[in-house]
Amino acid sequence: MRNRRNWLKQTSLGIVGLGIIPLEGFAISTKEDLLEEKNVSLIRLRSNENPYGPSVLARNAMRDSIPASNRYNWDLSDELIKKIAQKHNLTEQHLLLGAGSSEILNLVALYCSKKTGNLIIAETTFDYWTVTAENAGLKKIAIPLTADKKHDLSAMFNAIDADTRLIYICNPNNPTGTICASEALLTFITEATKRTKVLVDEAYLEYTDQPSLANLVTENKNLIIAKTFSKIYGLAGSRIGYAIAHPETIMEMSQLQFSPNGSVSVMSVSGALASLKDDKFVAETILLNTEARKYTIEQLENLKIRCIPSHTNFVYFSLENYNKDFFEQLKKNSILGTKIYEEKGKWSRITIGTMTEMKQFIKALV
Ligand code: PLP
Repeated sequence: MRNRRNWLKQTSLGIVGLGIIPLEGFAISTKEDLLEEKNVSLIRLRSNENPYGPSVLARNAMRDSIPASNRYNWDLSDELIKKIAQKHNLTEQHLLLGAGSSEILNLVALYCSKKTGNLIIAETTFDYWTVTAENAGLKKIAIPLTADKKHDLSAMFNAIDADTRLIYICNPNNPTGTICASEALLTFITEATKRTKVLVDEAYLEYTDQPSLANLVTENKNLIIAKTFSKIYGLAGSRIGYAIAHPETIMEMSQLQFSPNGSVSVMSVSGALASLKDDKFVAETILLNTEARKYTIEQLENLKIRCIPSHTNFVYFSLENYNKDFFEQLKKNSILGTKIYEEKGKWSRITIGTMTEMKQFIKALV
């Protein structure tokens, strides 16, 4: 199967061949394969998954949905759309389901590239999906983060020109874990959407105290919000997410989907429906994540590894002052981390797993 890891590996091979990316990033990909071949149990701290999920309610609902999986259950998707609409105080027409928010990001990329132009995005952020926009003809304009690794909203705003078709804001940002101040983001959206479309990715917002910007879409056709069940709800492997936008925008976007709302399964929808009822699981996840994140940051800083304060289930840190081979240490301890995101400062990211996993991670580095 051509998944993101394989794609990354193939791309990395090509890019490493050209001498463009650091070898650490490459070494990590081959190491994962080695570990998988040996069938060693891995500590997966790479993809910002929720180590506690799916919730018990979701597991039971998914199991119970198996017999209904012989049918295209549109009614069930309609029920989920209705529940999500209630949660955000919107109507069903404001929503579009996708197989993970990745499908939504991809759709937005296609939607905004109907006319040629440019796409404004931070560097560094979650940008795998922009390949679609670039292939469809949009030119990517990357705006550096501020020194404290936040979106530089004013620089992004100043970069808008007559050809700008889309601006992407990942809030909180992956991989840096930083968040935009509410008021500044609101002003940015109000002003930027007068000139172009803005996509706000709220994949990790539930780990923060900030409310969703969902309510803004009733009045604003140029704002699209992407949300996912992969993170706080622990359903990454189930592949379910959604877009929130003005009904006209949703209608136009849905025309680019093979079957509107049709790429989700009976099992994933059942899991998502049950997850929305499991507030206790969400609260526990937040609590456990906060504890393990605090521990991880304290321990990394004891090792002179500088960390960026995180609002998410991952931490961004600089390996500049770490004098061992970080990726070798992970490899020796069967831990999957990720790559170097920024060569200057040697910035990398680690997902917050369980406390036991984070203790093993720290032990591996000492
Ligand atoms: N957006 C962000 C910021 C992410 O980090 C991810 C996955 O890691 C996604 C979107 C895509 O998630 P999914 O397709 O599982 O919903």
